Amino acid sequence: MNILPRHSLLEFNTLAVTAVAEYFVQVSSDQEIVECLAFSKKNNLAVKVLGGGSNVVMNEFIPGLVVQFCAQDCSVIKETEQSVVVKVQAGFNWHDFVLYSLSQDWYGIENLAYIPGHVGAAPVQNIGAYGVEVKDCIQAVNGIYLDSGEAFRLLAHECDFAYRESCFKQALNGRVLITSVEFLLSKIPDVQVSYSPLNQMSAEKGLPTPSELAQWVIEVRQAKLPDPKILPNAGSFFKNPVVSHLEFDKLIERFPAMPNYPQQNGVKLPAGWLIDQLGYKGKRFGPVSVHKLQALVLVNQGGAGKDVIAAANQICKAVQERYGIVLEQEPRLFN
Ligand code: FAD
Ligand code: NAP
Repeated sequence: MNILPRHSLLEFNTLAVTAVAEYFVQVSSDQEIVECLAFSKKNNLAVKVLGGGSNVVMNEFIPGLVVQFCAQDCSVIKETEQSVVVKVQAGFNWHDFVLYSLSQDWYGIENLAYIPGHVGAAPVQNIGAYGVEVKDCIQAVNGIYLDSGEAFRLLAHECDFAYRESCFKQALNGRVLITSVEFLLSKIPDVQVSYSPLNQMSAEKGLPTPSELAQWVIEVRQAKLPDPKILPNAGSFFKNPVVSHLEFDKLIERFPAMPNYPQQNGVKLPAGWLIDQLGYKGKRFGPVSVHKLQALVLVNQGGAGKDVIAAANQICKAVQERYGIVLEQEPRLFN
């Protein structure tokens, strides 16, 4: 373990903003976490946990000790004819885990292929895509409280999972380091193709196997989303807002073409469409621009975290003025 002072995090965030951590360390065991916590206590440093940096907007200087947990073990802890429970350490790359699961004929997360980041961050915002959320396959989340160094194990129903939400963004925000996640995966294929364009593809080609479905998802995402290595970004910059039925009735009168998805608690509206209708695809805000194919993605070309936030604020303001809807930012501030 090597605690590095004044370490650049440029390579550690997919928005590629310039950022320096007061201290930075990569750890791979519970023992090393304990040593880090002792170091932070002794030097009065706040501890900040980083995964793959694909859902954060970093400040130029990040005081305290930034810790990245890199352990990548994966082991079966229970198996039946129908299912398997697999415990995966937080440093495992998410997409590699999806591919590994498919290679073992374990199913349930194929729609979540090609999402960047680490397994440890997946429960934080309850990652989701194409009608599947990771909460549906999580049995438990294990970790360590940063203040006491004590271990915890939370069952899925204790994690307060919701749309892009969990207790790790709320009550436990900034207070834990997730060390591993236990997934309950099925051995029986049951593909989810309700979302476009997967439904059209299956109407044309027939119902896919889970591996074929993952391949479709990869191809669609590669065609639509910018590769952060080429055009630095943090995925969708805003959550899709859910408005009340009353609010929706008023909106649809004014904007009859507005796509909408009824939910239990209201109607979900695609934030990308709201932004696109303002004519913002490709629009530049200094070094930050709205992606030309996907209006929900902000691309950073040489800007700092504050430039990204300034662009996001201008977009929010325009959306609020046009539709009366306040967009909520998805990537977390890392400061
Ligand atoms: P980071 O960005 O490093 O961290 C995110 C937050 O989690 C931070 O607050 C951090 O402190 C916390 N955190 C990270 N690891 C731990 C840990 N071990 N313990 C405690 N806290 C931790 N998201 C989706 O939901 N669906 C998508 O389809 C999707 N597509 C994307 C496409 C692109 C091109 C990009 C760039 C991003 C996309 N995202 C998507 C967002 C992002 O990939 C996910 O949220 C991912 O889970 C973040 O993982 P990470 O390891 O990079 O987390
Ligand atoms: P899209 O197909 O253009 O659709 C726009 C939005 O409408 C989606 O975000 C989705 O909300 C919603 N939607 C579409 N079909 C729906 C249905 N049948 N029922 C309910 N809601 C529906 O989306 P996209 O940008 O290409 O992304 C495809 C998928 O990948 C989406 O699920 C999206 O969330 C996910 N994704 C997420 C990120 C991220 O960073 N968070 C980045 C890229 C893609 P949902 O958000 O609820 O799915």
